[in-house]
Amino acid sequence: MQSLLNDILTEVQPLIGQGQVASYIPALANVDPNQFGIAVCDTEGKVTTAGQATTPFSIQSISKVFNLVLAVTYYGESLWQRVGCEPSGLPFNSLVQLEYENGIPRNPFINAGALVISDMVQSRLISPHVAMRDLVRKLSGNDNVLANTDVAESEFEHRARNASMAYLMKAFGNFHNDVEAVLHNYFHNCALEMSCVDLARATQFLANRGFCSLTKEAVLSQDHTRQFNAILATSGLYDEAGSFAFRVGLPGKSGVGGGIIAVVPGRFSLCVWSPALNKMGNSLAGVAALESLTRRINWSVY
Ligand code: GLN
Repeated sequence: MQSLLNDILTEVQPLIGQGQVASYIPALANVDPNQFGIAVCDTEGKVTTAGQATTPFSIQSISKVFNLVLAVTYYGESLWQRVGCEPSGLPFNSLVQLEYENGIPRNPFINAGALVISDMVQSRLISPHVAMRDLVRKLSGNDNVLANTDVAESEFEHRARNASMAYLMKAFGNFHNDVEAVLHNYFHNCALEMSCVDLARATQFLANRGFCSLTKEAVLSQDHTRQFNAILATSGLYDEAGSFAFRVGLPGKSGVGGGIIAVVPGRFSLCVWSPALNKMGNSLAGVAALESLTRRINWSVY
């Protein structure tokens, strides 16, 4: 595994820095694009890494996976009355489908879906972003995980598009709490900073039928884990989900911080990170690294 990851690092080296860092969140625009890390965690918790795998970065939309874990814990199957499980085929922050589809977002991994999930969690918890921080600390085994408040505040200042989605859903009756309060928690979740090692560990349950070997606890049932992986495979990379399935062939979730988590069911969870993004908002070198990895050792689920 170590030599495989070293080879991949060498192979993607020319791509590192290609693309654009997310500039629509001003606090993320200053991140050095010439960084790359990868970590693989097996079902016993053994982690192998290459590059800057212990450097914390903004997890952004990868937080949507953990947010969904919290929501499933409280709502079970009834959750799917308020959000769908179909790919959207549109950018992560698109508004157009919401109007046509009566305020029910296509899936929990686009922004509109994650906002509904955040609204649901807000109805059950006094401080959702603290619950989320504690969950990722526990799953990663890293008690130092923190949200970057500069990033959260920067996103809050530039919240117009996310706020529009939330208000539109409120108009359809699919958003129950105060929009600004939910956005505050949502942005703090996105602003959590974790490394590739932290995220590979924290998502190990997805590769392990819902069981986290680090905490020795079931995070999700086997059935819910199967459902999570299916939606990650069809919707985790937004409008690039189809070509990600074609090129990589694993359930995965990206974030505009340049991280991507991916799952080899029954075997490994992995995280790759490189901040410069392609036009769809996914890490350019990260997608290439995952493609190389699955091609070399035939890890695709298809
Ligand atoms: N915080 C970002 C937003 O809401 C998350 C987007 C992403 O990572 N794709 O716009």
